[in-house]
Amino acid sequence: MEPENKQSILIIEDEEAIAELERDYLEQSGFSVALAGDGASGLARAIEEDFDLVILDIMLPGLDGFSVCKSIREVKNIPILLVSAKKDESDKVSGLGLGADDYITKPFSPSELTARVRAHLSRYARLTGGSRAANDVIEVRSLHIDKSARRVLVNGEERLFTNKEFDLLVFLAEHPNQVFSKDELFRAIWAMEAVGEIATVTVHIKKIREKIEPVPGSPQFIETIWGVGYRFRA
Ligand code: CA
Repeated sequence: MEPENKQSILIIEDEEAIAELERDYLEQSGFSVALAGDGASGLARAIEEDFDLVILDIMLPGLDGFSVCKSIREVKNIPILLVSAKKDESDKVSGLGLGADDYITKPFSPSELTARVRAHLSRYARLTGGSRAANDVIEVRSLHIDKSARRVLVNGEERLFTNKEFDLLVFLAEHPNQVFSKDELFRAIWAMEAVGEIATVTVHIKKIREKIEPVPGSPQFIETIWGVGYRFRA
């Protein structure tokens, strides 16, 4: 990927260790990342500079994350991912209608963060015509996934995916050879819609297999690891 095509993320977080961990992981995943250590400087940068997404901690010295979120939202539509330290803060976020696109509760895994970031960037790219999105393509054997266009081809033939099937396939394909439990997959893909249940994961895996596997009963892409979960074989 060319450096100028990198999508840029602003992390507003006063805990330096957490900010650096998030930054390192997102940089490894191909993003360009800037850090702001307090609400006021974070807000200024979010408004003046051209970021694709903001990761915003709620508990900040001075101007807190709620206020920063509201103020960014008054002038920009970019995705805002709120980070909360406690479950009750999350509830507040969901109830306040601050214009945040998502929230994630500490502690979270770096892969969960990256999955959320990618999901929001691709949603935003679709909403805005995708002009800024990098043309991210995953190719594994007969499978071709175009993340920007949200298209899946098998041996050059397009297969239609629902949003959740697509998000789940991309999440697995972006973490090849790693085993995820149904619970982890559910949290990564469905966290914002509390209506579902874990069995949803099983149903979606079955549907994805029917679309991408040459022999669905004997999968070569998404393997079942009995008693544990699933693994995408690259
Ligand atoms: Ca904090």
